Amino acid sequence: MDSTTFDYAIIGAGAAGLNLALHMIEDPFFKDKKIALFDKDSKKENDKTWCFWEKGQGHWDHLVARQWRNATVTGTDGKEHTFNISPYSYKMIHALDFYDHARDKINQAPNVTWILSEVEDVRLQDTITVQASKEYRIHDHVFDSRISPGFYSDQSSVKLLQHFKGWVIETPTGIFDDSTFVMMDFNWRWKDTTSFIYILPHAKNKALVEFTLFSPSLIEDENYETMIKGYLSDVLKLENYTITTTEKGVIPMSDYAFHKDNSHQLTKIGTAGSWVKPSSGYSFKNAGKMSLQIIANIKKGMLPSKGLIRKKFRFYDAIFLDVLYNRNELGPKLFTIMYCKNSIQKIFSFLNEETNFLEDLGIMNSFPKAPFNKALVRKLYHRAFS
Ligand SMILES: Cc1cc2nc3c(=O)[nH]c(=O)nc-3n(C[C@H](O)[C@H](O)[C@H](O)COP(=O)(O)OP(=O)(O)OC[C@H]3O[C@@H](n4cnc5c(N)ncnc54)[C@H](O)[C@@H]3O)c2cc1C
Repeated sequence: MDSTTFDYAIIGAGAAGLNLALHMIEDPFFKDKKIALFDKDSKKENDKTWCFWEKGQGHWDHLVARQWRNATVTGTDGKEHTFNISPYSYKMIHALDFYDHARDKINQAPNVTWILSEVEDVRLQDTITVQASKEYRIHDHVFDSRISPGFYSDQSSVKLLQHFKGWVIETPTGIFDDSTFVMMDFNWRWKDTTSFIYILPHAKNKALVEFTLFSPSLIEDENYETMIKGYLSDVLKLENYTITTTEKGVIPMSDYAFHKDNSHQLTKIGTAGSWVKPSSGYSFKNAGKMSLQIIANIKKGMLPSKGLIRKKFRFYDAIFLDVLYNRNELGPKLFTIMYCKNSIQKIFSFLNEETNFLEDLGIMNSFPKAPFNKALVRKLYHRAFS
């Protein structure tokens, strides 16, 4: 094979592409397969921090910068609820540590080539062509983390945004409980929206304090900062602190079927492949799970995307998103119920799509019925008449 011919192409060296590439490198099955990994970016910036819950030891533990065993949710009842999340831990990885680790592994893998180039087009005919700085021929399969333009033009899906801005601050004295992270503090929210404060204490005198909204549209940049500043002064009574880093992001929370372009030649991965949990915005842990499933499918000679999407959970997510979209002001109450009327371990397992139908029913029963029934009717009506 020449330098423009590969067995597999992975487009995007992000959470999904790198999880897949690293798991392929670790599996002897791919030893003799040539893999091209394309990214337009050199991935030398710490552009985000990934957190996820996990039971016991995990595959990326050597990259985990911090982990917590306790969480708090301050609900619409005004109370701070503290949970021991054991046997789960909530783990945090700096994206740059993950990119650096991946770069090292890929440099040592003779069969994987990291190509710094924007992919402009993928043509799927008898042969697969990836058009980047050069034209590349791919024998077997393309894994693509570019979001399809169809997502932006689609009118039939619910498109909520998880948008946030956070500051990593340092304080002169230790004021944070570094054994406990704040999952959601609903006492500090933007009027009539699903919004909350999220805190990851890195140390007693250092924490990420983030203001997050799950809502249909963005707010002005200065408003996130007003909310963080207000929380620091009014709730934490902090006037003296230094901002060391800023994090900002937007994650689509949508029931759009990103995965509908999957075929025997191409699999959409990551956000572009419906790997982000629509109702929570989490996807890093899922990227590992999905990558292993793809590898198992390839080894069995099956369609790489077989079994990646669980219809039952997509349906639950679609209903929940519909409620949040149409009754955004209800979100704080619904999340309070979710975390405070159910065991947090059960909720983590539900969000990981590992619960059975009876367990799902138990969780659903804890919610008020009316908004969900209305959302169900809206969905059925939409399906029947559009
Ligand atoms: C700031 C932020 C914080 C987040 N925190 C968490 C978290 O704590 N936990 C969690 O589970 N999820 C989190 N998420 C959500 C989700 O896990 C991430 O967005 C995750 O990075 C998605 O993985 P991905 O591979 O789909 O996309 P990305 O990681 O964004 O990777 C996509 C890659 O594709 C490349 N690319 C795109 N187009 C092209 C092209 N045409 N040619 C070549 N390369 C291209 C990009 O340069 C990029 O490197 C966060 C998201 C953001 C934005």
